[in-house]
Amino acid sequence: QVPLKPGRSLMDWIRLTKSGKDLTGLKGRLIEVTEDELAKHNKKEDCWICIRGFVYNVTPYMEYHPGGEDELMKAAGTDGTDLFDQVHRWVNYESMLKECLVGRMAVKPIAAAKGDIYFNDCLLFVGMLPEKNVLASSTKDLTPRLILVVFSKLLSLDVLLQKYYDWFQTDSLITVVIYTKQKDVNAELVIVDCQDKRLRGEIIMDDYSYLVEVDLDHAVSEDVTVNIAEKVGKVEIILKKKDDIHWKMLGQPCEGHNTLIKRTDRGLFYRKCKLVSKTEVTHDTKLFCLMLPKGTHLRVPTGQHVYLKQIITGTEVVKPYTPVLPFLPLDFQEPPHHDGVHIYLMIKIYSCGLFTQALDHLQIEDYISVSNPEGNFKKSQVQTSEDLILLAGGTGFTPMVKLLNFALAEVSSLRTVKLIFFNKTEDDILWRNQLEQLALKDERFEVQFILSQPTKDWVGRQGKISSSLLSEFVKRRSRKDSKVLVCICGPTPFTEQGVQYLKDLGYSQEEIHAFTA
Ligand code: FAD
Ligand code: NAP
Repeated sequence: QVPLKPGRSLMDWIRLTKSGKDLTGLKGRLIEVTEDELAKHNKKEDCWICIRGFVYNVTPYMEYHPGGEDELMKAAGTDGTDLFDQVHRWVNYESMLKECLVGRMAVKPIAAAKGDIYFNDCLLFVGMLPEKNVLASSTKDLTPRLILVVFSKLLSLDVLLQKYYDWFQTDSLITVVIYTKQKDVNAELVIVDCQDKRLRGEIIMDDYSYLVEVDLDHAVSEDVTVNIAEKVGKVEIILKKKDDIHWKMLGQPCEGHNTLIKRTDRGLFYRKCKLVSKTEVTHDTKLFCLMLPKGTHLRVPTGQHVYLKQIITGTEVVKPYTPVLPFLPLDFQEPPHHDGVHIYLMIKIYSCGLFTQALDHLQIEDYISVSNPEGNFKKSQVQTSEDLILLAGGTGFTPMVKLLNFALAEVSSLRTVKLIFFNKTEDDILWRNQLEQLALKDERFEVQFILSQPTKDWVGRQGKISSSLLSEFVKRRSRKDSKVLVCICGPTPFTEQGVQYLKDLGYSQEEIHAFTA
């Protein structure tokens, strides 16, 4: 993120796109763009970029890009899809840049066959396949039953063909069974949405996503049951028929149905959730409780975030948020209880924040779109640790909530869990009371508050994240080789500096997890 000039905020950009100004220089005409043509527009004052086959003139957007002009220029005159996906594939550029659309890339004729692909002696595709998009059944940890061919994203995702799922019916029920052949498939890896006669079931398998998506043959009720046989990796989705009739087929397959592709290549899926409550946490931060629709099965894993999407003055705007728990549980005797219906988000409302202002104006019972979870944190990082250190700045506390709870409730190898929480003032400390209660209750847990702008009454520690503060608070407990995990989250410079200080103090890359987008 770079500081933008005054008058160059996202809201200003939205205003400009609505002004009727010709932002492409083509007076609304759409053209077919060749690679040679695209390459010519590679300067700041004349910059075109291709994303997923569509070409945008981003020259007018330069000064509005939150990542800065230089970042945007990296893709000038080229196909920026991979770069875009690496940095922020969740940004809905289609909506943001719709007034900058120049046209489509001209499709090149398919080159001569490089290597034909056969499956069960049947020729699947002749042509040149981008190698990184071809997955063979030999892929180590994926099922041997599946061979998958993904053509270029431009030509849409196409896959073969051996069934990975099955379905059957009784008079009143439809059961869809997905055989993942993976061990340890749990509820967090299965995301099901059944609304308006469309069934979508996504199973996460390591870095891959398997999808069943069909327009059902007949109507079903909103009650959906998901059963998971963890050991054998079998997932059952049970739907209730609305009418007592015999179905001839499950339904019409949608694009992406029966495909197994990289998670990052699967588009984000959103469902509308109802705002059921909004409670104050501090003077500027609120706890929003959203309710999933009845036909949705979704659990957000520890350390992962979701994207919220709202239409703000006609443009879709997307921002990431990390779900928390409704409160910090103090008693770990009982296994953690997830009702599976509510998502809690702790969100700071910025006085000039585009998204958070709109969020704050939502009324109870209003709807907001919530995406599938994302993030690269793995619980196993904690499960192998003896000491866990959490460094949080402001709302960077949010991923620490579930993490803290998971660590104390479920990781018996942990001897200590320490949270060092950086805020500006005492009034900014989120859930201070609950954290202090937890520290009293559980001797493994310790919390330290550090304020950067305290009033003179503050008797606690003062300062900002620094090498000297960290060398004081982030210490290896005992043995030099004890297993430590340090997790850090906060404003980007806070996180970046923190990671550098930790490395300077001798912590390895594997011992540090930084939460970022
Ligand atoms: P903008 O319109 O983008 O900014 C307007 C003004 O608000 C800025 O000029 C600045 O003064 C202030 N501001 C905006 N963003 C920031 C910022 N990031 N840091 C400091 N000042 C800022 N936020 C939460 O409150 N809770 C969460 O659980 C949460 N989870 C996140 C998870 C991830 C993975 C990431 C990357 C971010 C998360 N955020 C979270 C931040 C959130 O995505 C938005 O950036 C934030 O809500 C501001 O959005 P906005 O549109 O209101 O502000
Ligand atoms: P804030 O109140 O502005 O700051 C919290 C603390 O961090 C303050 O002590 C502040 O000190 C310090 N700080 C801010 N900028 C710093 C810098 N450049 N160097 C060192 N210390 C700095 O924070 P906030 O408004 O709540 O913002 C929280 C941030 O966390 C947001 O940027 C949000 O995007 C991010 N976040 C990320 C995730 C994720 O998963 N990636 C999740 C949640 C939140 P001073 O301001 O006094 O210097």
